[in-house]
Amino acid sequence: MIELHSIKKQFQNGEEIVTAIDGVSLTIHKNEFVAIMGSSGSGKSTLMNVLGCLDTPSSGKYVLDAKDVASLSDDELSKIRNEHIGFIFQTFHLLPKLNVIENVKLPLRYSNVEIEDANNRALALIDRVGLTHRKHHRPNEMSGGQRQRVAIARALINRPSVILADEPTGNLDSQTSKEIMDLLTELHISGQTIVMVTHEDDIAEYAQRTIRMKDGKIIS
Ligand code: ADP
Ligand code: MG
Repeated sequence: MIELHSIKKQFQNGEEIVTAIDGVSLTIHKNEFVAIMGSSGSGKSTLMNVLGCLDTPSSGKYVLDAKDVASLSDDELSKIRNEHIGFIFQTFHLLPKLNVIENVKLPLRYSNVEIEDANNRALALIDRVGLTHRKHHRPNEMSGGQRQRVAIARALINRPSVILADEPTGNLDSQTSKEIMDLLTELHISGQTIVMVTHEDDIAEYAQRTIRMKDGKIIS
């Protein structure tokens, strides 16, 4: 479902060229749950940005759902992103002025899903993440774990092919982290493909497979 072939990503840093990803080849199958680990600066976030079509590689080939996406324009990339990918971030990235329902529906704003369908989908997902009793609350009225649940519901609203989670438990205490990982595990069991970056071994253990990065390369 995801195929990376010899992906390189370089950044110009003043005079210097930084190679953030250095020839990564990787296949992720449908319904896999993969963790990406590696020390700071090893290229994890850059790789997630490429996988999420937030950034294009300098060279190499990226095939997502049988489409070659490495060379698409920004407009085409944002369409792919919207239709195929759900994002979960360490810091949740919810909009503070919107309540739970509005935050969850946000990715549908530029799609052609009817309002009623959007509302029904949002309410079903809010129920699935256990927040029906909070559906009219705003992010600042909720705990970190509840905010991450909202973000997970939002990530699911477009029925994405893959969920990309960058340190999803990085801002949560250990009990709440476990609850969030149990929720991601449930999604995985029900068929969701998930790719997650983490620093923590006990979080990576929830995944089926762990990829370790160093200096922009996959080392195991
Ligand atoms: P990680 O997420 O594993 O900590 P990153 O992917 O953020 O690593 O970074 C990998 C390398 O690429 C680092 O050396 C970092 O400084 C560099 N890098 C990442 N993004 C940029 C950028 N936009 N401009 C210049 N250098 C970057
Ligand atoms: Mg990072």
